[in-house]
Amino acid sequence: MHTIHCHFCGGVVRDQATIQYQPPRASAQFALPQNGLCTCTPPIVYEDSPLDDPPADDAADACAPRPLPPVPSPPAPPSPSLAPPPADPWKGAA
Ligand SMILES: [Zn+2]
Repeated sequence: MHTIHCHFCGGVVRDQATIQYQPPRASAQFALPQNGLCTCTPPIVYEDSPLDDPPADDAADACAPRPLPPVPSPPAPPSPSLAPPPADPWKGAA
């Protein structure tokens, strides 16, 4: 079984069911993994810990095909029915 180290104290978490997963934070302090047992209640494990090896899934996602960008539709030609009628310069000039 993969050994999980507590990120708070660095100890080995025996009961992984009690781990409290927390989102990674820039200010999070990561304890170096040690052989001792974790004494935290509950053990704290930050997700995507930089101390852990990157999962293989990341490499697979990088090779995944990306969706094509949407193709812009050509602009519609102006409708002649919306154009104003040509003015008659002689109308009303008599
Ligand atoms: Zn701990």
